[in-house]
Amino acid sequence: MDLELTDEQGAVRQLAKDFVDREVAPHAAAWDRAEQVDRAIVPKLGALGFLGLTIPARYGGSDGDHLSYALVTEELGRGDSAVRGILSVSLGLCAKSVAAWGSEAQKREWLPRLCAGEAVGCFGLTEPGTGSDAASLTTRAVRDGASYVIDGTKTFITNGTWADVVLLFARTGPEPGHRGISAFLVPTDTPGLGRSEIHGKLGLRGQATAELTFDGVRVPASALVGEEGQGFKVAMSALAKGRMSVAAGCVGIAQACLDAAVAYAGEREQFGGKTIAHHQLVQELLADIAVDVAAARLLTWQVADHIERGLPFATQSSVAKLYASEAAVRCANNALQVFGGYGYVDAYPVGKLLRDARVMTLYEGTSQIQKLLIGRELTGVAAF
Ligand code: FAD
Repeated sequence: MDLELTDEQGAVRQLAKDFVDREVAPHAAAWDRAEQVDRAIVPKLGALGFLGLTIPARYGGSDGDHLSYALVTEELGRGDSAVRGILSVSLGLCAKSVAAWGSEAQKREWLPRLCAGEAVGCFGLTEPGTGSDAASLTTRAVRDGASYVIDGTKTFITNGTWADVVLLFARTGPEPGHRGISAFLVPTDTPGLGRSEIHGKLGLRGQATAELTFDGVRVPASALVGEEGQGFKVAMSALAKGRMSVAAGCVGIAQACLDAAVAYAGEREQFGGKTIAHHQLVQELLADIAVDVAAARLLTWQVADHIERGLPFATQSSVAKLYASEAAVRCANNALQVFGGYGYVDAYPVGKLLRDARVMTLYEGTSQIQKLLIGRELTGVAAF
């Protein structure tokens, strides 16, 4: 793996850094308190080409490689995970799936708008009764002439109330498990589709997380993404790449923890007018964060490298996501310890970093599910 960034990757990273320092980080605490990110951020992400990374230019994308995508995602995660998640889902799970599996008409209809930030996408897999065991989902799509009629409920859907389109997974066949599942692109203004925001989240409070209900929602057969029965494959391939995006966001959280903790340790004085940076046990906390940042970043870059070189990457993506998400929680905890009591109040950033980090070990496959995916690769035995 080449650890040198190309000039182009360096430029994209700098662009993202400057954007985050100017347009994201200064507002993160206020958006968190208001429980709403300013939606104007979405077209700004689009104008810079961030929402089109890895999508071909002929569909309105900005091309770019997966390391550039990871670098931008890391920077957004450093500024505000709520904003990072908007991109990881609208681009990473929705637009990239349309680019990989969609029909020509679907690509032409949705990709230019999603890449420009004129439209937002979401990913509807989880249901109230099916989380980790997504293959047992119960939302149904029944063929009726030239259309499908969809009934069911999806929950915890990131961007849910903001989205213009949902990449929806529903059961079309009688087969149990993953074989009877199909993917659909459903515009959120389709009659029968209801949306309600989920409030009271521990973190990612600025992000619109929603429950979606489908009550006789009728879509044309052309809304199918891929072929009937291929939906689980569509979902799993989206998540395999999506986990790299979560991992990159976690590197951003960990880097923000390091920046904040080092700065505070250099200012706060305790015991004889010395800054707390002089105390060895404080340095241990800082060193532990620094090691986690470096390890998580390298694992994330390795996934990008595998994708670019056409090598298998799904297990590497699970390794990176598992390590980086657990590391982000550890780093935020360590950073909070450096801040002492001040870490516990929201005048300082580390409390929010810890709250935002916690969900990373839960979504796109919990830490336990990542371990089972890695274990399956090692042993050939699926222990789900
Ligand atoms: P469960 O599956 O019920 O798991 C509960 C516990 O049991 C966990 O600790 C889990 O690891 C453990 N467990 C389950 N099965 C096993 C097993 N076989 N072996 C060992 N342990 C096991 N979903 C979407 O589709 N789209 C989204 O955009 C989206 N965004 C989200 C945003 C937020 C803020 C949150 C909180 C969730 C989001 N999700 C989304 C859902 C998320 O992916 C699920 O919450 C996650 O997959 C876990 O499912 P669950 O919550 O039902 O937990």
